[in-house]
Amino acid sequence: NEKPTALIMIFGATGDLANRKLFPSLYNLYAKGQLDKFAVVGVARRSLTNEEFQLRVKESVTEHGEAAANLDEFVSKFYYHSHDVTDSSSYIALGKLAEELDENYRLDGNRIFYLAMAPEFFGTIAEHLKKDKLTNVTGFKRLVIEKPFGHDLESAKVLNKQIRTAFSEDEIYRIDHYLGKEMVQNIEVIRFANAMFEPLWNNRYISNIQVTSSETLGVEERGRYYEKSGALRDMVQNHMLQMVSLLAMEPPIKLTTDEIRSEKVRVFRALRPIIGEEVNDYFVRGQYGQGSMNEKEVPAYRQEEMVDPDSNTETFVAGKLMIDNFRWAGVPFYIRTGKRMKAKSTKIVIQFKDIPMDLYYQREQTVNPNLLVIHIQPEEGITLHLNAKKSGQGTEATPVKLNYANKGIDGLNTPEAYEKLLYDSLRGDATNFTHWDEVALSWSFVDNISAVWENTNEHSFPNYESGSMGPEAADKLLKNDGFFWWPVT
Ligand code: NAD
Repeated sequence: NEKPTALIMIFGATGDLANRKLFPSLYNLYAKGQLDKFAVVGVARRSLTNEEFQLRVKESVTEHGEAAANLDEFVSKFYYHSHDVTDSSSYIALGKLAEELDENYRLDGNRIFYLAMAPEFFGTIAEHLKKDKLTNVTGFKRLVIEKPFGHDLESAKVLNKQIRTAFSEDEIYRIDHYLGKEMVQNIEVIRFANAMFEPLWNNRYISNIQVTSSETLGVEERGRYYEKSGALRDMVQNHMLQMVSLLAMEPPIKLTTDEIRSEKVRVFRALRPIIGEEVNDYFVRGQYGQGSMNEKEVPAYRQEEMVDPDSNTETFVAGKLMIDNFRWAGVPFYIRTGKRMKAKSTKIVIQFKDIPMDLYYQREQTVNPNLLVIHIQPEEGITLHLNAKKSGQGTEATPVKLNYANKGIDGLNTPEAYEKLLYDSLRGDATNFTHWDEVALSWSFVDNISAVWENTNEHSFPNYESGSMGPEAADKLLKNDGFFWWPVT
């Protein structure tokens, strides 16, 4: 495996994402010896000297990573360019710096452009990169682009067209950081490397699948952004639907980027569109009210900073998805995600159908269904819920759990999502990034729902208390089908 060599340009290098995730991740790669020759140019608006910038990077790694003796050597490869995103002369100066660094560090003309900035600049930057010739390279050029990719299908198409003027589809790495998570990547292995799951992975043996991603935090300082987004756009269009596609996809014929992505795309194509009045039967929205979290009183969403006091923005979504193909016909995939919920947890529960006849039925007590639980975060692991004989006399069945904790095995923390995704982009592996076809299909699905929600005011907001598991209607959604949410805490 050849180590990657590249000039990495980070647009938005003074921002929160760069500071908390990107610098520490790059440092980890460096410390593990996974980078060969490289240099980094931080690009942002304010004026900083290289030394000031290097100091910030050092602080970022010390605070958010695990700094060691080689930190000084690492930050010596960081340069800074004060930039105006709309000004050609600024790009031309950046291009000059890039050429110098390429030569000094012998970077083979390879360039990564990482856009860690507000999305309204993505299109403009991509167009300038081309026009001002920063994409004229002798090696590879790749665009790594943060979410959100558009606000709906229309705006996503406009953005895609803009970035496609400078980069081809296979040069575009659209980040969905859930796809960098260890246990999300594990879904594929659990399914396709075990003889005991794949034969059962269909509507004959699975009764329903539940994907929960709950946060305890509220909107914090992101009110301005969140008011225009809401949970449907911020979480469902990307992360939730991506997890569903990995759970539902057919086995790819090979583990290549193209094969895996095309199987995922087929899931999106089979996703039943939810249109008009059906939205109320399949989807539930919520907004948090005040409540108590860790014995502290917290305000309602409508009282948060930069939030309209009459806001109809949803901070919670639950939905029932149907995948209309041979494998999944009739099996609901329930998803839910929200802020200010009882626990911070991302989990997938696969509930198997009941056995044909319950020999162990006792005093209105049926045996529990088998569950396969995939813990994505904060714990990472797998739990298999089975039934076994209760010790002692008699033949009573009792539930038992087989547990596998990812972190317990090798004693190491698994690398952060961003570390893996950065490494993948440097190596040119786009498997764990979203293809345009996935983005487009998931926006079309979500747009039908927002169209209904935006045209009907929700008078019951706020409809769930901070510190709860969301509105009652989300429980009803499953109850109507004879199911309930398996607890995630
Ligand atoms: P931020 O507001 O903290 O940082 C923005 C950066 O852009 C700063 O470096 C700023 O100097 C630069 N910038 C802004 N206007 C500029 C201009 N006109 N010219 C040049 N530079 C300019 O934002 P962030 O939280 O780091 O987020 C960046 C991107 O990453 C966004 O797309 C966001 O949605 C995405 N994202 C962030 C996080 C996170 O944890 N912060 C998580 C997932 C995705």
